[in-house]
Amino acid sequence: MDIVTRKEAKERGLARYFTGKPCPHGHVAERWASTCSCVECDRKYREATREKEREASRKYREANREKIRERKRKYGEANREKEREASRKYREANREKISERKRKYDEANREKIRERKRKYDEANREKIRERQRKYREANPEKAREASRKYYEANPEKERERKRKYRQGGLVEKAKRKRA
Ligand SMILES: [Zn+2]
Repeated sequence: MDIVTRKEAKERGLARYFTGKPCPHGHVAERWASTCSCVECDRKYREATREKEREASRKYREANREKIRERKRKYGEANREKEREASRKYREANREKISERKRKYDEANREKIRERKRKYDEANREKIRERQRKYREANPEKAREASRKYYEANPEKERERKRKYRQGGLVEKAKRKRA
């Protein structure tokens, strides 16, 4: 490495200079023109500091595990509320836009949506049945009305249902006979 005095380095606008002489810690390294400190010493100092900070942070986390967890939980809660509120406000302010967007999306993805629903229904048959049962239990009037309307609109389904019902009855009868 070429010898560059501090004066020269400053004149040439260089950040570092090099004397070729070892620093008090024995590094034959460049020195910062601004502070005269050895670049190598500086690097080691920063590394040691970083290591110390890391260690201190680790110890803090270890000693305050509960506190940190609680803080995180609270932060998440506070922001969930905030996010929910922001989303609610947005929906309120953009009702038209959102419903238009949804309509367009539904239109463009009719097949995909149908397939997704079919898969969901298939995977959650029990859950859906249970939900429907609970709904009917809680809203017997409404459920009866909805069912009446449905079968009115789909007479062939009504016939199908009656056929199945009769068949089920026959199967039950046969089972009882066998038993
Ligand atoms: Zn040094």
